[in-house]
Parts: sequence; C-alpha cells; structure tokens
Amino acid sequence: MDFSKLRTVLGEENVSQGVRLADYTTFRIGGPADILVRPQNAEQLQGVIDWCQNLPLPWILLGKGSNVLANDEGFHGVVICPEGDFLAIHTEGYQIHAGCGVSLARVAREALDHELTGMEFASGIPGSLGGAVYMNAGAYGGEMSQVLSSIQYLDQTGIHTIGPDEARFDYRNSRFMQEGSLVLGAVLHLKPGDRQQIQDQMQELARRRKEKQPLEYPSAGSMFKRPEGYFAGKLIQDAGLSGFTVGGAKISEKHCGFVINTGAATAQDVRNLVQAVHDKVWESFGVRIWPEVRYLGEWGWEPMLAPKGEA
Ligand SMILES: Cc1cc2nc3c(=O)[nH]c(=O)nc-3n(C[C@H](O)[C@H](O)[C@H](O)COP(=O)(O)OP(=O)(O)OC[C@H]3O[C@@H](n4cnc5c(N)ncnc54)[C@H](O)[C@@H]3O)c2cc1C
Repeated sequence: MDFSKLRTVLGEENVSQGVRLADYTTFRIGGPADILVRPQNAEQLQGVIDWCQNLPLPWILLGKGSNVLANDEGFHGVVICPEGDFLAIHTEGYQIHAGCGVSLARVAREALDHELTGMEFASGIPGSLGGAVYMNAGAYGGEMSQVLSSIQYLDQTGIHTIGPDEARFDYRNSRFMQEGSLVLGAVLHLKPGDRQQIQDQMQELARRRKEKQPLEYPSAGSMFKRPEGYFAGKLIQDAGLSGFTVGGAKISEKHCGFVINTGAATAQDVRNLVQAVHDKVWESFGVRIWPEVRYLGEWGWEPMLAPKGEA
C-alpha cells in the first residue's frame, strides 16, 4: 500500500507505520496497525477519511485507547489519532471548550483552575473527551450527558453542532456510537464552585479508585456493562469467578468487574475469558452480561461475544 499521499497531506511526522496497538491501549494488548495517522484539524481528518473510503481501506478512530481490546493480528487499515486543534482547550465563563483529543484529566484540571464544579466525577477516567462523549462515560453518579452544553461531530454529510438532548445519550451509549459519527469537540457547562471542595472531591474519588480498582495492572476498566438491576462485578464474584484466569488474562480479585492483563495476555485470552464468564453468569443466574469494552477486530469494531442462545 502506498501511503505517500497521506504523508504529503499530514506531514511526515504525523504518519507512522508498523506501530503496535499494544502501545496505544491501556490493556497493553494488540498487534501491528498498517498505519497510524495524526490529523491536526477537521479538514485533515475529513481528508484521511475520504482517502480511506475511496480505496477502500478500513479506518478507526482511537482516543486514549482505554476502552478497547485490540486484535492480536493487529489492524489492516488506518488508525486515526486526532491531535493539533483537537488538543485545544479554553474556558469562557462557566463553559469549557475542548477538542476531542483532550484527556478527561486535563478537562477536570481546567475546571479546577477556573473554580468550576461538575467534572470531578470524570477526573480519574483515563479517556479522551471524544471517547467519553461517544461512550457517555460516567462514574460516581455523574456522566458526560449531564455536563455537556453542545457537541460538534462529523458524519457523512458534514460537520454539525447539537445539544445534549439531541445526542440520544443512554447508559454507555450515544447517537455517535449508534451512527458511527465522530465527535470533534464539545462545550461543557459547569457551575461555579469552591476550589478547595473541588480538589478534595477529586482526591477522594482518586483514593476510592485506588482502593477498589486494580490500577496496578493494565486493563480497560470495567469489562462488562451493568445489567439492569445488577452489578456485573458482583454477579461474577457470586459465580465463583474471582481470580479466574485464561492465559495471561484474569478476573481481578480486587474488583471482579475488571479483566486484567497479568503480563502476557493476548486478545484471544481476554475473549475466551469474557465468553467463559458470560456463559457461567448466564448459567448461574440467568443474567446476560455484555462487554462494555469495544473489540477492534481485523476489519474494524466487532462484537466481542458471538451471539449465543438468547441475547
Ligand atoms: C483503569 C480504568 C478505569 C476506567 N474507569 C471508567 C469509569 O469510571 N467510567 C467509565 O465510563 N469508563 C471508565 N473507563 C473506560 C474508559 O476510560 C472510558 O470509556 C473512556 O471514555 C474511553 O475514552 P478513550 O478516549 O480511551 O476511548 P477509546 O478507548 O480510544 O475508544 C473507545 C471507543 O470510542 C470511540 N471513540 C474514541 N474517540 C472518539 C471520537 N472522538 N469520536 C467518536 N468515537 C470515538 C472509539 O472509536 C472506540 O469505539 C476506565 C478505563 C480504565 C482503563
């Protein structure tokens, strides 16, 4: 494949070949990607997508890689990591304007610096703003849908700006996920707060995460979505699966909702473990647990569990 057009448009320094996806995911799992590009603005991003679609060549957008499991064989296509303009952040009054590539930790720090409250819940989520809007990430009673004022996104018809009421947010779901559209940036609307209280709350939530979550191991956070009326971690624990291991993948004894990479886990280890855990929980309690983590297969995002029995 000749990638010289991409190099010309994006600049040599923004095109990398032969990267290991393991280096771009918090799970530290994943084979090589054909090519990884770093568009610096919306025009370049659109140009990359047009180029891929004309060939055609599969492409995916990656944020901080904290909610993905990448295939051991890697990805035969273009991995897009937005940078440049997408890393910009500034505050006007009670509103923070940020590009999709800005980390949630950075957004939370910006809020603290301007004595704005509302983003504390997200300060320990290791994702990008774009990934968090797409996933409607949440924690400790807060979620992205509650703090957004507007979202700018890109789809087949161009760039649009919408309010949160048009974003079809649901539990770990959004219109961007349903439609496969790309979040370019967002405006968050926060409230004035007390600097010390905001800082104390962020520190308290960080302490709780450290105490309850296996942050010392690579993972993608909670592996499964919360089934209605239950907690996935509790179901897994009650099914006797604490510490259950497949190859290098393990159900964390500290938090059974986390699958951890104990050192040399492969994506196949994780997939086999996820399937076994799903089946055991179903047999034990008649409850289906589905992965929250997105599986990056050979041709793009694929469902992690093959449909089996009733869904
Ligand atoms: C230790 C740990 C703790 C975690 N705790 C939490 C938690 O408390 N709450 C929670 O909700 N999640 C949690 N997560 C999961 C994860 O951090 C969030 O889901 C986060 O929002 C993912 O953002 P990301 O940038 O890493 O997305 P990625 O993992 O890079 O991508 C995830 C999906 O989002 C898509 N995507 C990324 N950026 C964009 C964009 N700009 N436009 C459109 N699609 C995009 C990708 O294509 C992919 O399908 C945790 C993860 C870890 C490792």
